[in-house]
Amino acid sequence: SAAVAAATEEPIQPPVDVKYTQLFINGDFVDAASGKTFPTVDPRTSEVIARVAEGDSEDIDRAVAAARRAFDEGPWPRMTAYERCRVLLRFADLIEQHAEEIAALETWDSGKTLEQTAGSEVPMVARYMRYYAGWADKIHGLVVPADGPHHVQVLHEPIGVAGQIIPWNFPLLMFAWKVGPALACGNAVVLKTAEQTPLSALFVASLLQEAGLPEGVLNVVSGFGPTAGAALSSHMGVDKLAFTGSTGTGKIVLELAARSNLKPVTLELGGKSPFIVMDDADVDQAVELAHRALFFNQGQCCCAGSRTFVHESVYDEFVEKAKARALKRVVGDPFRSGVEQGPQIDGEQFKKILRYVQSGVDSGATLVAGGDRSGSRGFYIQPTVFADVEDEMKIAQEEIFGPVQSILRFSTVEEVVRRSNASPYGLAAGVFTRRLDAANTLARALKVGSVWLNCYDVFDAAIPFGGYKMSGVGREKGAYSLRNYLQTKAVVSPIKDAAW
Ligand code: ADP
Repeated sequence: SAAVAAATEEPIQPPVDVKYTQLFINGDFVDAASGKTFPTVDPRTSEVIARVAEGDSEDIDRAVAAARRAFDEGPWPRMTAYERCRVLLRFADLIEQHAEEIAALETWDSGKTLEQTAGSEVPMVARYMRYYAGWADKIHGLVVPADGPHHVQVLHEPIGVAGQIIPWNFPLLMFAWKVGPALACGNAVVLKTAEQTPLSALFVASLLQEAGLPEGVLNVVSGFGPTAGAALSSHMGVDKLAFTGSTGTGKIVLELAARSNLKPVTLELGGKSPFIVMDDADVDQAVELAHRALFFNQGQCCCAGSRTFVHESVYDEFVEKAKARALKRVVGDPFRSGVEQGPQIDGEQFKKILRYVQSGVDSGATLVAGGDRSGSRGFYIQPTVFADVEDEMKIAQEEIFGPVQSILRFSTVEEVVRRSNASPYGLAAGVFTRRLDAANTLARALKVGSVWLNCYDVFDAAIPFGGYKMSGVGREKGAYSLRNYLQTKAVVSPIKDAAW
């Protein structure tokens, strides 16, 4: 089909050069202490885009030392909140001025469609930064009543040096979710990007400096998890750790944090989110929404609607239409307009997804669309749909992180609540119905951090996001994210004069 052909055409030359490949420490681009580099790869072709400095524990030490100086002695936590606000606003302006370059870099390094990076993600990064800029001068403490004759103030102070570890599926958005609130609260940051996608964070770090961020306040270290990531998680000079990634790695970093200095940790982890289609659903609309809920971003979303529960009364029609929709999905070069799905991030994920597809077939699910690679090079996978999926199958339990939709059948609301909640994950859920009572019941009964009613993947700077159960600890975005980056100090003094 035309869709598959696009994946085999000559790749489009990205309209951008790679300017920054070194580590960003203390306001300078520098080589790794070891001099080592690693390749970052174009997922369309598996060719090397650039070699990037490979940070390890010595570089994390340098970055933490720079952040410590910036926090303990530098101007950033001491300047007025309004000045910090203005740096973040200027940064947002610079992101917009360089939007095309940033979006192209992100698409090149990650395989996300340019329509998504240029049309939505880069503008959202600017939006998030303006949102957090707005908070910078609105963070204040409290005066609380006490039983005795005491004046009690509660101060909210920045927590210090924040270590942040981000994944490859939304490199720039995760930068914004993490760096935005940390800086708005007056902290210093050491950010470890994912080894698959180091490029965009380095570029925007240079813009943040141009916007007036003092040296050392943001440090970006490219490198691998077990080396640079582990060094950051266990560093004694880091006061807070924020991590987004898989549940398995989340457990490791939490343990490293506990064993070192008990730094508080927020975790945004995996999911196996139900998308529930009720019996009254307009099937065409439900199919489209369920399709997007799963296939968005090549299926590489922690909150992907990866268990499509469909009421038995509309099941057969739904499966037929979901199959037709998947077969129409345009797979191809993410730089080409009209393309809906680019390649998966790397060979490892590509192989893992195809193993899950095989496991679906082996366990007796009905493969109704896709099931194989798309094209002959790069990491493209056909939009894949399984029907007759049962709860105990691996594809219904584990995070596939790829373009593989699993459609399950249910008959009652009680049943779908029980089965939805029978998962170690609790990140998100979608509910598609016109019945207010069913929507309300499900919204309350589902043990998840986000419920989307008749919509999905609606993100906004002000909406808190995070997981129940093994999908995470804490919340990001919105006012909730500020709590992660503030200490609370009670200051108590006697009131001597009874005259008041
Ligand atoms: P994935 O398997 O999808 O790459 P990970 O959770 O392993 O997801 O990766 C998310 C982030 O965590 C990346 O920046 C990665 O380098 C980092 N990471 C991986 N392993 C470790 C580790 N042992 N310690 C700290 N960070 C890690």
